[in-house]
Formats: sequence, C-alpha cells, structure tokens
Amino acid sequence: MAIAESIVRIAGQHANGRRVTKIYLKVGHLRQVVPSALTFGFEIVAQGTPVDGAELELDQIPASGKCRACGTESQLPGFPLQCQQCGGFDLEITKGEELYVESLEMEE
Ligand SMILES: [Zn+2]
Repeated sequence: MAIAESIVRIAGQHANGRRVTKIYLKVGHLRQVVPSALTFGFEIVAQGTPVDGAELELDQIPASGKCRACGTESQLPGFPLQCQQCGGFDLEITKGEELYVESLEMEE
C-alpha cells in the first residue's frame, strides 16, 4: 500500500493538474511486487486524485548481482540469491531493487 501511495504522489506531482491516463512503472524483481495487488491498492489510493482511473503498466526488471568471491555478474532468477558461476551467496546486488515511475500518459 505504501508503494501505491508513493506512485499516486509522484504521478500527481508530474501531472500538474492534468488527468493521467497511464503510468509506466519499472519494478525490480527483488521488490517482490505482486502486480494484481499493486493495481488493486493503486485504484483505492488514487480515488479522487488526478491519477484516478489511470492504468498501471508494470515493467519488471530482472535481478542481477556481482559475486564478491569470483567477480562474475550474473542474473538472479530467484531466491536464494546465488552466483551462477561459483555458487557463492556473497553478492552485491546491481539490479532488481528499482521501483520508479518511468513515464506518464496524460490527457492534452
Ligand atoms: Zn561467484
């Protein structure tokens, strides 16, 4: 719900009084956002705001990390987060924790 609230706030600021019809989101895999739950929460929070009725478009960013043991950067398809090269668990996460509004579609 906190995520939905921040989306509504950020999109509302950018809208500058115009009505928002679509919101493009980038969501890192590690955020473990459930799209249907986020959409549902968003619809509730958005009521009565400039983004009321806007459609959410989620683009998931796959997780990846750099292994501190062998230096390999690998995709991390799921948990546990593990180096695909040496099997190590000591990783520096380089992608997958993103969560931001990429762009908005607004009425003219
Ligand atoms: Zn490794």
